[in-house]
Amino acid sequence: MRIILQFPEGLKQKALEHAKVLEKQGHEVFISASPTFGACDLAIAEAKEIGAERIVHFGHNEFKHVDFDVQYVPYSIDTRLDVLEVSLRHMQDYSTLGIVTTVQHVHQLDAIKSFYEGKQKHVIIGRPYGPAKLPGQILGCDVGSAASIDSQVDAHVYFGAGRFHPLGALIATTKPFFVADPFSNEVERIDDYRKLYTQRSRGKVLRSLDAKSFAIMVSTKNGQFNMDLAKILKGKAEDIGLDAQIVVSNNFDFESLNNMRCFDAFVNTACPRLAMDDTERLTKPLLSANELVEVLEMKKELKR
Ligand code: SF4
Repeated sequence: MRIILQFPEGLKQKALEHAKVLEKQGHEVFISASPTFGACDLAIAEAKEIGAERIVHFGHNEFKHVDFDVQYVPYSIDTRLDVLEVSLRHMQDYSTLGIVTTVQHVHQLDAIKSFYEGKQKHVIIGRPYGPAKLPGQILGCDVGSAASIDSQVDAHVYFGAGRFHPLGALIATTKPFFVADPFSNEVERIDDYRKLYTQRSRGKVLRSLDAKSFAIMVSTKNGQFNMDLAKILKGKAEDIGLDAQIVVSNNFDFESLNNMRCFDAFVNTACPRLAMDDTERLTKPLLSANELVEVLEMKKELKR
C-alpha cells in the first residue's frame, strides 16, 4: 500500500526508523516534511497529491473523524514519578487535587492518582469536552479535563513538560495551578500567567477600537476549518459598516499576514491558541472570535 507518514516536530527525528520498518512490511512509504501541529492537521492534501491510500499519523490520537484512511500511532512516554514527591511540599494546603496531562502520559494517571491518594489526598480526574478523547487528557484547544472539575478541586496539577498545554488549562480555571515536570523533576506554580493573558486580551480589544477593516482567518487544516464561524463574524462586522474579508491558508505565515497592511486587525477562527500565544508576531491586533464580538459591541456603544 502507498502510505504517507506524518510526525509532529518532536518526533520527526524518528521518521527514518519508522519508514524502514514499514518499507520492510512491503509498503511504499513517503514522509510528510510539512510542520505538523496535532491531529487537527492531517496531511490529507499531500496524501491525495501523491496518491497515498493511508496516512500514518504519529504522536496524537484521533481529533475528529475524517473521510480518509488514517492510522493514529499515539506516542506514550513512561517517566519516573519522583517529581510527585517534590510536589508534596506545594500541596500542603490542598486536600482535593485535579490532575491533567497530555496523551503521552495519560497511561500514567492511575499511578499518579494512587501516589497522591497514598498521601491522603483526594484526586479527581476530569473528562475532556471533545477533541481530546481520554479522561485527564488535555489539548491546547480542549482543557475540559481541568475546567470541568475546577469547582470541585482545591488545586490543579499538570503532569508533563512544557508550558503550551498547562497555560491553556490555566486560563480556563480559577484554582492554584502547578506544573510537575517529570523530566526536570521541578514543580512550578504558574497562576501569575492568568493576569498576563487577561491584560493582553484587554490590550488587544482596546487597540482594535479604531479598526475599520478586519481579516478573518480560516485555516484549511481538517480540525481547524471553521468557515461557518468566519462568515458569521464577517456579517457582524459588516452589519455595523466595517470592512471584513476572509483570508484562507493551510498554515498561516505571520510575515505574510504582516504584509496585509490593508487590514487594521486580524480575527482567528483556526487553532484557538494562535490568538493567545502568537499575538506578538503580528504588528496588528490578533483577536479571538469572542474578542471581536466584544470590540463590535464597544464600537456600537461608542456610536450611540
Ligand atoms: S491546540 Fe491547536 S494545534 Fe493543538 S490540537 Fe488543538 S487546534 Fe490543533
